[in-house]
Amino acid sequence: MSTEQKSGILYIVATPIGNLEDISRRAVRVLSEVDLVAAEDTRHTGQLLSALGISAELLSVHEHNEEKRSSQLIDQLASGLSVALVSDAGTPLISDPGFVIVRACREAGIRVVPVPGPSAVITALSVSGLPSDRFQFEGFLPRNSSKRRARLEELVALPHTLICYESSHRLRDSLEDFRSVYEADRQVVIARELTKQYETLLSGTPDELLGVLETDANQVRGEMVILVGPSAGKNSEELTISVDKLLKAALDELPPGQAAAMVARLTDMRKKELYQRTMEMKKP
Ligand code: SAM
Repeated sequence: MSTEQKSGILYIVATPIGNLEDISRRAVRVLSEVDLVAAEDTRHTGQLLSALGISAELLSVHEHNEEKRSSQLIDQLASGLSVALVSDAGTPLISDPGFVIVRACREAGIRVVPVPGPSAVITALSVSGLPSDRFQFEGFLPRNSSKRRARLEELVALPHTLICYESSHRLRDSLEDFRSVYEADRQVVIARELTKQYETLLSGTPDELLGVLETDANQVRGEMVILVGPSAGKNSEELTISVDKLLKAALDELPPGQAAAMVARLTDMRKKELYQRTMEMKKP
């Protein structure tokens, strides 16, 4: 038998983002069968496990000790123990610890198995009413307002939905930045307290949403995801014009294939579409 076959499995287990009923049957089975549960906050996960009637050995893994823990966990996995990694809520690694451990396990040839379930980003997108065919997940925007604004400027022409995590005490400031960076009619959705008692979806322009927050302080409470729709018709037209300009400039220096590839990288548009556009531009 090879070493790989003898070593244990690392399970990446998603847990509820609010409603306990969202735990999967497989997650419950895996959490009760593993030798060790590696958790972001052992007290928090201890409460979840006890609500599920599971008793398990817990080990804390958070952003400050993940590096150290990963070699310890690899030794345990290599000796044949199985481990479940969970975060406080949702899917580990998604704006949560776990990346360092998963990368190290994969490099060490240890099997990593997903046990999928809730994540606030997908949950919010699924009910937002904003285009869901393509989207960009930003995680948390920078805390500092000038850095946040600079990042939003980079994302302003995004032709698909933007999704950000946000903390309640920065919501107002972030919306102020959205208002100053985006055109006045850009649609924003705040998905708050998803799957919990006070679940709320608010849609509107940044200005309208700031108005709602002014009249209802409850709308600033709890956990939230902010989604920003793609630019509307008028701006798509502007975008097409600037894409043509970009393509023209790139074609001055590069052959069509390379020009299309470069503009695809800059705009997030499909290379094939841009290549076809270069062909059209070449027509007399
Ligand atoms: N790993 C988690 C996931 O898969 O969604 C995300 C962890 S991140 C540290 C926490 C952030 O996720 C919160 O600040 C909030 O932006 C978002 N979030 C988590 N639970 C939520 C909920 N029930 N409703 C709205 N947003 C939530």
